[in-house]
Amino acid sequence: MKVHEYQAREIYKQYGIAVSEGYVAETADQAHELAAKIDAPVVIKAQVHVGGRGKAGGVKVVQKLEDVKGVAEKILGMEIKGLPVKKVGVVRAVDIDHEYYLGVTLDRENRRPVILVSREGGVDIEEVAAKTPEKIGRSAIDPLIGVEPYVVRKALYSGGFTAEEVKGITPILVKLCKCYLDMDAQLAEINPLVRTADGEFMAIDAKIDFDDSAMFRHKELDAFKEESETDALESEAHALGLAYVRLSGEVGVIGNGAGLVMATLDMAAAAGRKPANFLDIGGGARADVVANSLSILLKDPNVKGILINVFGGITRCDEVAKGIIEGAGKLDINVPMVIRLKGTNEKEGKDLLEKEGYTFSDSGMEAARKIVELIGAA
Ligand code: GDP
Ligand code: MN
Repeated sequence: MKVHEYQAREIYKQYGIAVSEGYVAETADQAHELAAKIDAPVVIKAQVHVGGRGKAGGVKVVQKLEDVKGVAEKILGMEIKGLPVKKVGVVRAVDIDHEYYLGVTLDRENRRPVILVSREGGVDIEEVAAKTPEKIGRSAIDPLIGVEPYVVRKALYSGGFTAEEVKGITPILVKLCKCYLDMDAQLAEINPLVRTADGEFMAIDAKIDFDDSAMFRHKELDAFKEESETDALESEAHALGLAYVRLSGEVGVIGNGAGLVMATLDMAAAAGRKPANFLDIGGGARADVVANSLSILLKDPNVKGILINVFGGITRCDEVAKGIIEGAGKLDINVPMVIRLKGTNEKEGKDLLEKEGYTFSDSGMEAARKIVELIGAA
C-alpha cells in the first residue's frame, strides 16, 4: 500500500525525524490560507502515488503569497503519470545547501533489508544509480539483530559522506530504518534529505510503501487508505475474495494457482496480445467463484476476449465448467472465450461445456493462440 507524501511526513515525524513544516489542502483557497499561516515562500506539492512529481511540474516553489492560489489551482488541475491530483501539500520552503538520498528497501537476493544512500540526492537519483553506481553507498540490515548505528555509518561511509555528514545523518537514518522495520514497509525513502543553509539536516520529501500482506498488523494505517486511489475494479474483486490484479492488455485471464496464471499471462503475450489482468481462482474453487471471476472480467472495458486455463488437482474441472455456465447464464458474455481444462474430472467438465458449444483447447499455448486469433492481432 502506498501513502501520500503528507501522510508519510506524519509517520516520519512520529519517529522523530525532522521534517519541514507542511499541511495538506484540497482546494486552492485552502492552500492560500495555509500558506498565509506558514508565511511565504512555500512549496506547493502534488499529492499522487507516483514519484518524479518535480520533473512533471507538480512541485513549485512560490515566493509570494499572492501567487499561491494560482499555482495551487494549476497543480490541482494536473494529471501526473495518469493520476489526477486531488490534494496539494503546502510546505514551508527550505533554503537548500545540499540534497542527499536516504532509502531502505528489501534486497530480495540477499533476503534482508538494505540501506541505500547517496550524496547526490534529488530528482536525478535514478540517473545517478544507473550511470554512476559507485556514488550509491549501501549496507545490509541483519533482520535478527535489527538496526544498529554502525550499520548505518557503514552505508554512509561507503557512499563517500564526510565525517560531519555521517554525524548529522546517522540518527535520522537509524530512525528511518526503525520505521521501515516496525511498520513492515517495502520502501522507506527520504529524497531529498537536505542540509539547510543553517547546517541542519531535514527531510523535505517522504515516501513509504507498505507490504500489503502485513497490513493486518497495522490497523493504524487503515485511516491512510483512500479508496479513490485504488482501482475500483480491483477493490470490487478483492471484496469478492478474488486474487485479481488489473493489467493493461486485452486478454482477460482466469486460471488456478499463481504460477499457472502467470504462465498463462506469458502465453497470451507470446501469442500476440497482452493480458488484461491476473486472476487466480485458487485451489478447490467452486462454481460461484468462477462465475464471480467472469463478472469481474466483463466489467473491464479493455477485455476483448477471455482465456481460461485451469489445471484440475483439488479443483474439479466439472465444477469450473458449472461456474462458467452459471456465469454465462447471468451475464452477457459478448466477447470470445477459449477454455483449457486438464486434470480432475476433465471429461465431465468438457461434456458439460461441449453441450453449450464452448471453444476448447488441449494445451494452454494453443488456447492462447486461439483467443488471439478470435480477438484479432494487435
Ligand atoms: P519529487 O520530484 O516527487 O521527488 O518531489 P520532491 O519533494 O523531492 O521535490 C522535488 C525537488 O523540488 C527537490 O529535489 C528540490 O530540489 C525541490 N524542492 C522541494 N522542496 C523544496 C524546498 O523547500 N525548497 C527548495 N529550494 N526546493 C525544494
Ligand atoms: Mn523526492
